[in-house]
This record gives sequence, C-alpha cells and structure tokens, in this order.
Amino acid sequence: MECAIAGKLLSASTSRLWNPRKLVLRRNKRLKAHNLCSSEFTIKAQTHHSSDVGIAKPRNFTDYDIQGFVWPSPTDEIPFWKKGFPSWDVNMELPSEQTKDSKLMHIVHVTAEMAPIAKVGGLGDVVTGLARACLSRGHTVHVMLPFYECIQKQQINDLMLITTYNSYHDGNWIPTNAYHGVVSGIPVIFIEPSCQFFKGQQVYGGSYDELEAYMFFSRACLEWMQVTGTQPDIIHVHEWQTGALPILYWDMYHYLSLKKPRIVLTIHNMEHYGECRQEQLSMCGLDGSVYATFDKAVDDRTVGHNPERLSLLKGGIVYSNAVVTVSPTYLKETLCSGWLSSTLIRNHDKYFGIVNGIDTTMWNPSTDVFLPSNFDVQNSEGKKLCKYYVQRGLGLASGDHVVDATLKVPLVVCITRLVAQKGLHLITHAIKQVEELGGQMVVLGKASDHRIEREFEDLADSLNQGPSIRILLMYSEELSHLLYAAADVVLVPSMYEPCGLAQMIGMRYGAVPVVRKTGGLADTVFDMDDESNHEMENGFVFEGIDEASLNCALDRAFAFYRNKPREWNSLVKKVMKMDNSWNKTAGKYIEIYESVLVS
Ligand code: ADP
Repeated sequence: MECAIAGKLLSASTSRLWNPRKLVLRRNKRLKAHNLCSSEFTIKAQTHHSSDVGIAKPRNFTDYDIQGFVWPSPTDEIPFWKKGFPSWDVNMELPSEQTKDSKLMHIVHVTAEMAPIAKVGGLGDVVTGLARACLSRGHTVHVMLPFYECIQKQQINDLMLITTYNSYHDGNWIPTNAYHGVVSGIPVIFIEPSCQFFKGQQVYGGSYDELEAYMFFSRACLEWMQVTGTQPDIIHVHEWQTGALPILYWDMYHYLSLKKPRIVLTIHNMEHYGECRQEQLSMCGLDGSVYATFDKAVDDRTVGHNPERLSLLKGGIVYSNAVVTVSPTYLKETLCSGWLSSTLIRNHDKYFGIVNGIDTTMWNPSTDVFLPSNFDVQNSEGKKLCKYYVQRGLGLASGDHVVDATLKVPLVVCITRLVAQKGLHLITHAIKQVEELGGQMVVLGKASDHRIEREFEDLADSLNQGPSIRILLMYSEELSHLLYAAADVVLVPSMYEPCGLAQMIGMRYGAVPVVRKTGGLADTVFDMDDESNHEMENGFVFEGIDEASLNCALDRAFAFYRNKPREWNSLVKKVMKMDNSWNKTAGKYIEIYESVLVS
C-alpha cells in the first residue's frame, strides 16, 4: 500500500509511524507544517488504518522506507523549525477530569511574562501553567500583563478594549487602556499605557526605563481593580518587576477601596532584586524615603552608603502575606546565602518552597503539533523519527544516511538562556566532551549580553560546519519542542537553578537529564548510581562546578546509553512516566492561598 506525498511515495509501513487516528484530527495542521499533500495522504492513511488490524507488532524505525519521507535539510530555504506550523490553541484543552476544589477563589496573577505570547524563560511557563491548573480546579483566574508592543495579537482570542482610565506616574496621570483577551484558555487583562513603556520588539530591553515601567504597571493593575471594583481574593505577583505592588496595596489602595485581596509573591530567581533609588520609588506615588529602613525595603548592603538603595524584591517580601520560591532546595539555599537571606529568615514563617510543574497539555509529545511524529511511553518509535528528522535537518546525519548508525549516536541538547547562571563554561566544555565521546550536541541558546553572544558566535562559526555540534543562537519555541523530542540527553549544568523546567520538559519527551545538583535540579533529578535511592533514580547528577565533575556525569550517561541499551530504554520510559505536572503541585499553592484568605 502506498500513499502519495508531495510527489514522492510513502510506504504503508512508514505511514504507520503517523498514528492514523490522530491524523484524522490533526492532519491539516501537521501536513501543512511538513509540506505534505493533505487529501491524498489522509485518505490512504485512513485506508491503511482499517487494514492495519491484525498486524502483530510495529516494525523498527529502521525498517521503514525513509526515502519516501520528506526530510528536512540544512540547505532548505526555510529551516524546518520555521515551516508554517499551526498556531496552537489549547483553549479547549483544560483538563476537565480534574476534581474541583471545595473553596473556590478569584486569583489574579500580575506578571511581566506569560507563555506563549510573552515568554522569555521559565517565569512565562510557570504563570500560564499554574493559572491553567487553578482554572481546571474550578477557580476564577485572570492574568494581568503589560501589553507589550511585541505581542502577536493573532495569538489572543476575543481581544477587546474594556476600560479606559488614568494611572499615576511621576506627577502625571497617564491615559491607559485595559484590554481583555483569552490566551491558552486563560482570561488576560492587558495594560497599555499611552506613553513609551513596553514599546519595542522584545519583552525586555526596550528603550524605556524598565524599573519605572514596571512600577507604573504595578500601580496601573491596582488602579484598574479600583476603578472597575474588582476585588479578587488573591493577587499573585511575580519577581522584582511587581515587587512594588504589595507595598502600594498595603500602604495606599487598601486605605482607598481595595479591602479583600491578600498578596502572594513568587520569587523565581533571586538574582534580580529590582534595585531602586528612593526618588524612583516616589514616582509611583509612594514616599520613597519611608521605605529606606532595614525592616522595609532598603538594600542591606547599601546601608550607610550615599545614596542608599532600595530593593523592590525586598519590599515585596516584607509586604506580601506569603512568599513562595520555586523549589524546597532553593528555599534552603536562599536562607543560607545571599544578602536577602536575613530578610527571608526574618520572614521565614510565611516563606515556602514549592517545586514548579510543567503544563502537560502544552508539553505533550503525543499531541505536540511541532513534531513530525508523535509518541508516548507505549509507542516510542515516533521519538526515533523526531531524532532522525532533527539530525537530517541540522546536517548531523552522514551523507549516505545510514539510519541505524545515525540513530545510535547519542544526541545531547541544551536549551537555555545564555547567562552566567546557566554554567556557560560547563556548556562550552560539554560541547568538546560530547564530541570527544563520539556523540552529537545541539545548543539552542539566546544571550542578552553582547560579549557572551560573540563568544558563542565564534564557537558556532568554528563548529557548526562539522559533523557533530550545532550551536543555534536564537529563541525558538518550535525548535525547542523538536529538540526535546529528538534528544537522548538533556543537559542542565547550572551554577544555581531555582527550579529549572528544561530537565522536566526533557524527561516528558524521553530525554534523560544530566544536571548539576543545585536548587530545583536537586529536587527533581536523582542519580542512577545513588545506591540509597534506587526508586527515584532518573538521571545523572554531578556536584562540582569544575569540568571534571561534568565529565564524570557525561561519561556515565554515555556508557549507560551504549553498554546497556535495554536498561536505557527502560530509563527513557521511566522518565516519560514521571509526574512533574502542575496537578501535583498546584494544590500546594491553593493551600497557601487559603491560609492567607480573609475568612
Ligand atoms: P529560566 O527561567 O532561568 O530561563 P527554566 O529552565 O526555568 O529557566 O525555563 C526555561 C524555559 O525557557 C523552558 O521552557 C525552555 O525550554 C525555554 N527556553 C530557554 N531558552 C530557550 C531558547 N533559546 N529557545 C526556546 N526556548 C527556550
């Protein structure tokens, strides 16, 4: 049986890789993305499905007629991750089987990032994932987000202007619009000031003062609640950008009309603490000098300096009803080191560590629209196709395409912001080590610092023409999905990592994690050779920040992959089955919300 595809022939056995049942639902999206001929393929694939009955076992990927598939190539005019993917709308896909909570609340997230429309790193994923988890538990949830100019409006459903009002900034009342729209099933209020704030082609780094812009945003969210009479149970703020909100709430809006809300702050990364001068804080209408005390918002390290500095994050910690950070180990680390530790110790009764989850609808290899073939624990042949697809597309498959040999080469991926926190020296070392060990490695990374960018550009120039390393310096959501699906190993060698999502997403897509033991990585990855913890073991862990420590973990991972293929396959299945979803941890947030509610 044969199916015509883009003028070529696809054998019946190849089409079995493409689950025909899913094809019926998703064919148009996927076929468009991979330039396949829709109608012909669909009809024959369905025909094939009906005659599939009785076939005992799927054959190996290497048995399939790879000539018949439209494989990508590095010389393609449009790179394979930029093909016309469908815009993926998960609106309808809130997990409906979730049991509803008995006490239902109204929760408003105030945030600088939200996936996928304004995502730079994990903050965006976490806000969207947690909001969706709480919605599916029956709560009313809104996200409030700056209306960045770079947001693609076609990704927002039912966008409409709902309120025109003024919000204060530096002696002026700025005309401001609030829009309502739906993103990934979540109602979102977009705040759009009529000044230059939030203009530019990126979420961060526009040509306006970020500190002032986010202080404006923090007040504009409260002002919007006041003018519309919105009194949520919980205002959940995130990071330094919204650190002024708890102060503004308790020292200003609570004396005006907002009485009911209680404030929860999540700190995703303590490195950024919102350094601010007194007169800058005054721009949002507070008297900045009032907050320059040890027990309020002064940056402890600057006491006695001229001028002293304030920290929006510290003010947020002091003024919030509860403070959460994103893993229990990071909580311990932050109580022991860093200048904020004394503030956190003083506030330890309201300080909690909750490990992040991942949104398993958005990160799901069995439905992911960016993949050329879907897969799951029961049927992992599709993962091989994804690996070979990426290898072909990036020129990592040899010219004569000996599929079996190509697939046997371990493929390591590292998907990250290129900043010091992420262990840049270990990433560059891993590139050399993986090459030496005969593996392949793909780095997908974006640097905001020009020096780091140049360093990685030089590396890319010298290695990207070779047979085993690809360094891709950009942000691409689509490519990240393809790489997680293709990977045998996901590398996260961070110097510190509050939680880390890459290792959890990687596991869901069948990539075994190799990580440094720090923060949330220590809470989610457990070493294969740890005799005391066989049940939890799921990856390869190292502790030192030196190259030898990393080598040791990589060597063990490669030896396991090569010498124990059956055990490796079991490990892949085990990591895919692990539950790192928000279902597991959203309940802990709900408990904290309930504990601060006004009864
Ligand atoms: P952080 O929040 O410190 O950036 P996390 O591991 O918590 O780190 O979250 C990173 C998120 O951003 C993951 O979803 C990861 O896949 C994604 N990501 C990081 N860099 C890139 C990139 N260059 N292209 C696409 N996605 C990226």
